[in-house]
Amino acid sequence: MTIADNIAVIRDRMARAAQRCGRNAAEVALVAVTKTHPAEMVRQAWQAGVTTVGENYIQEACDKIAALADCPLSWHFIGHLQTNKAKIAVALFDLIHGVDSLKLAREVDKQAAKIGKIQSILIQVNVSGEATKSGTTEEAALELIRDAGRLEHLRVRGLMTMPPFFDQPERARPYFAALRRLRDRIRAEAVAGVDMVELSMGMTGDFEVAIEEGATLVRIGTAIFGPRQAREA
Ligand SMILES: *Cc1c(COP(=O)(O)O)cnc(C)c1O
Repeated sequence: MTIADNIAVIRDRMARAAQRCGRNAAEVALVAVTKTHPAEMVRQAWQAGVTTVGENYIQEACDKIAALADCPLSWHFIGHLQTNKAKIAVALFDLIHGVDSLKLAREVDKQAAKIGKIQSILIQVNVSGEATKSGTTEEAALELIRDAGRLEHLRVRGLMTMPPFFDQPERARPYFAALRRLRDRIRAEAVAGVDMVELSMGMTGDFEVAIEEGATLVRIGTAIFGPRQAREA
């Protein structure tokens, strides 16, 4: 199986999942997650029609973005963003998925202002409450979004989550459903400066369930590129 074959299979599975729940397949975008994989593999994905790439580590993304300057890809940051990396993240990424504190939101806003950009972000929510996971709590999300919505160089576009890892994807469903309900509640508040359109949820093991629960962005690595390479610290 080549990368192009894998992508064809994933697109087919995404379309079927959308169909099963009466959604239009065009509402769900594939974010190809390329962490640890070399630029050449990302190029193959682009040649196979991938338009959006998710990276977790700033330095690694910088190198790949430079190597793929001839490919018009949209780069998303899906890792944990440290405030001291906000400047470079704003320079490189169309969407930052993991904003989970006002401190980080303010720093992203400040860096975006400096380059005259309106930076799109998602708010990461820790719906499972696992101590090891990043993300704001469900309870704190609305207030964070209200505050972030006031920052002039930020655009809150929706929510992102990472449920606990399960062997059976069905077990992730309640977490995806919880994120969707939270999105609907926040949307009903019609917060100024906020469009609650995106739900970034679902990975290789559980993206079909996530689509059934309303995902608009699925972040898929292993099913496209195979197992990740070991990464130097
Ligand atoms: C690595 C990663 C993914 C992709 O995971 P796979 O199981 O390989 O599809 C998705 N989202 C985030 C935040 C990741 O760090």
